Amino acid sequence: MKIEQLQKINTGFLNTPIHKLENLSRKYNTNIYIKRDDLTGFALGGNKIRKLDYLLKDALDNECTVLLTYGGPQTNHGRLTAAVSARFGLKCGIIMDGPAPQKASGNLILDKMLGADLFFMDDSNFKKKSKEIYAEKYKQLLNKTTKKVIKMYEESGDKVYVIPVGGSSELGAAGYVMAAKEIKDQLQEMRINMDYVFTGFGSVGTFGGLYLGAKYFNTEFTPIGIAVSHKNDLEIQEKVDYIKEANEFLELDVDVKLDDMWIEKEYVGISYNVPDSETRKYVYMMAREEAIILDPCYTGKAFRGMIEMIESGKIKENSNIMLIHTGGAPGLFSEGHSEAMQQELWGEGHKEFILRN
Ligand SMILES: *Cc1c(COP(=O)(O)O)cnc(C)c1O
Repeated sequence: MKIEQLQKINTGFLNTPIHKLENLSRKYNTNIYIKRDDLTGFALGGNKIRKLDYLLKDALDNECTVLLTYGGPQTNHGRLTAAVSARFGLKCGIIMDGPAPQKASGNLILDKMLGADLFFMDDSNFKKKSKEIYAEKYKQLLNKTTKKVIKMYEESGDKVYVIPVGGSSELGAAGYVMAAKEIKDQLQEMRINMDYVFTGFGSVGTFGGLYLGAKYFNTEFTPIGIAVSHKNDLEIQEKVDYIKEANEFLELDVDVKLDDMWIEKEYVGISYNVPDSETRKYVYMMAREEAIILDPCYTGKAFRGMIEMIESGKIKENSNIMLIHTGGAPGLFSEGHSEAMQQELWGEGHKEFILRN
């Protein structure tokens, strides 16, 4: 089936706006735009809505009653899966990495507010093993947990629709293939020739969809993916394979090659979702220049990459470039990140003016 005819449920508010960042553009002598996928409008928004639109349609067509997905405790995808489940009368289960934190914060509060069932996996037995052994043990635990959870739901008469991490299935990728078309049409109307579009590179439904969509719809812009976690060559290859599978599944007939994917791996910071002051500098910069709130796990890194690439000359001055704001602000209010910001924004040496008469 042609992707344009692929059915979806419109949960969010599309199209999302594109606007220029005037202060940053002046500061960096570059025309910097932003696409506001943080405003997809559903339960605090974010990129996962575009994928869930297609996944939800598939789940409902198959008469499923539960959406089951995966992620870290601060998964934005989990929160939005819980949101569409609530809205469409489904149950939602989220299988989460690691044991349950002592305190709920950030997305965890929202997940519970939205009525999701959370299943935590205790990986403490093999937490300290080498990367390879950990990965193997983790996979076993994940499979076992998934089977148990599905069985539990089925015993109460439910039918489970399983969604992979980040909603990045072959079908989920359709969300950002079509976003490429949306961007192309919007830019045409705005009469802007966009050179580059930046996005975070995580479970890759977003970058992969954009890469495929840019080719399929023959856009002027080139997508640039900024890695949000450290990835070795093998892990990158796995992502390329996923993009190839999505290409086949969606019958796009694009020539998928690692050689012409622009992926940057230098702006991860310390590690995936680990608070780091370098990324936070850019989160603060966006807030203070443009009053737009980025997140410390994804968009802060993508924005950092964009600015540092201008500064290093990888992106030429006077280019037209755009950041996709993929959402994620609830992560600011997670324990780890808010703790780190306490020290910078509210720590020793912080003095408010107290006026007395
Ligand atoms: C999931 C996520 C991303 C990355 O998207 P992928 O499709 O997983 O690569 C970027 N930004 C935010 C806020 C996210 O939640």
